[in-house]
Amino acid sequence: MPYPLDVLHATFGFTQFRGVQAEVVGRVLAGERTLAVMPTGAGKSLTYQLPSVMLEGTCVVVSPLIALMHDQLRAAEAVGIRAATLTSADSNRAETIDRFRAGTLDLLYIAPERASTGYFRELLGSAPLCLFAIDEAHCVSEWGHDFRPDYRLLKPLLDQFPSVPRLALTATADAHTRADILDQLGIPAEGLIVAGFDRPNIRYAITPRDNTTRQIMDVIAEADGPGIVYAQTRAGTEKLAEALAASGRPTRAYHAGLDPAVRAANQAAFVASEDMVMAATVAFGMGIDKPDVRFVAHAGLPKSIEAYYQETGRAGRDGDPAVAHMFWGADDLARARQRIAEVEPHRRAGEQARLAALAGLVETAECRRAVLLRYFGENPPAQCGNCDNCLKPPATVDATVVAQKYLSAIFRTGQMFGTGYIEQVLTGKSTERSLTSGHERLSVWGIVEGEEAALLKPVGRALMLRDAVRANPHGGLEFGPGARAILKGEAELRLIVPPKRERRRRGGAGA
Ligand code: ADP
Ligand code: ZN
Repeated sequence: MPYPLDVLHATFGFTQFRGVQAEVVGRVLAGERTLAVMPTGAGKSLTYQLPSVMLEGTCVVVSPLIALMHDQLRAAEAVGIRAATLTSADSNRAETIDRFRAGTLDLLYIAPERASTGYFRELLGSAPLCLFAIDEAHCVSEWGHDFRPDYRLLKPLLDQFPSVPRLALTATADAHTRADILDQLGIPAEGLIVAGFDRPNIRYAITPRDNTTRQIMDVIAEADGPGIVYAQTRAGTEKLAEALAASGRPTRAYHAGLDPAVRAANQAAFVASEDMVMAATVAFGMGIDKPDVRFVAHAGLPKSIEAYYQETGRAGRDGDPAVAHMFWGADDLARARQRIAEVEPHRRAGEQARLAALAGLVETAECRRAVLLRYFGENPPAQCGNCDNCLKPPATVDATVVAQKYLSAIFRTGQMFGTGYIEQVLTGKSTERSLTSGHERLSVWGIVEGEEAALLKPVGRALMLRDAVRANPHGGLEFGPGARAILKGEAELRLIVPPKRERRRRGGAGA
């Protein structure tokens, strides 16, 4: 067998592996099962493409999007990999099946619903296999943001071929989703490999909104180069594009409602420009390769930490200093909660936990990068020196005692109730449930009053962020590994003092 590095040079034309690629490829070649969590652009495809060239037999790639599959097929064929797709959209299915059976395919891309058919099971049994690659593996988890029931049928299929190694790949998985993927795809815990998510040249800042246009103008004034401003609505992008023109920079808008020709022209103008400001919805940026974006500003709260990471990640791909500045308001949180109330019930707890994590990032007095990287499973230093909180530490309040009360209330009520009820118990708000359950006789009943009550929601989020508290799939709160240190007074919990106006507005809204 040739060396992986030789194949990397000869087939792909790359000089070295990036990040965890070598480690992942090593595991695959050793026949082990792996879940690789790597950010978009980190080079996930290579980790199964390279083994597929080196090993006898075909690597079967499960991928949820046909459009994506055809892109990958073209890319693989471009470097001389023998690849095919097997989807309802393909007219050459018979030929593909012949090639598969004959063992002359390196890669075979299939959709998950196909994988569950009896016919396909038999087909797999009649062809030489070297690897199962499961792309967008978070789709297997109900906890993930993109659950696809068909992915649940993969494990029984894979289990029929126990000696064929498995490689699950995803860019987005919080700790919960990750554990779920391992479980659902039969991958041992030591098979988890998480890539470096850090983008050290990006300076993160998050600020409450007061005058969005003026605030973004300040970002533009300090950034020497093109930038993207993400707005939450189509109308918002057009308004911002107009208002930001006062900066003297060329500005344009981009959203899915524009005429396709206008959209394409705006995008092309941005890619070619050295100083343009693009006001866009999140539809903008996917598949654009512009390394010199100097800033990404958010005019409102992004959808999740994953989305924030991906959107801010469009800044500074060239490695030079870049800025990611988010402006948010309490009304963004309220709108997000509203959106969650409307999703299907089984997805709600996952969405709630994702929002809580995002709120935790927004509210933290700690290093933004540390919070972000911890979310992606890394163990970063406590300070990065290149975010707003590191550069100018905010005023904080010690919320450790409130956090202890919060944990006690969770414990005393049996680790099964959600945030709303825990807050009720702590503030002593009598309800039918608290009456009949006897919770009103507990020592934690009504022990949070006045100023402390305003800290309950941020404390709840901060506890979740530190994994001191976990929400079960029904939204009930349980202790996580971080609970003990706080309860015992070994770890303190500090929160940013909310700006006065925000505090009043947020009083009754809740998160
Ligand atoms: P992902 O699926 O993780 O988003 P891709 O597999 O699409 O990322 O790879 C992103 C880009 O990085 C592609 O253009 C790919 O050719 C390139 N790439 C992958 N591995 C390497 C490497 N070792 N050296 C240089 N470029 C690489
Ligand atoms: Zn920092």
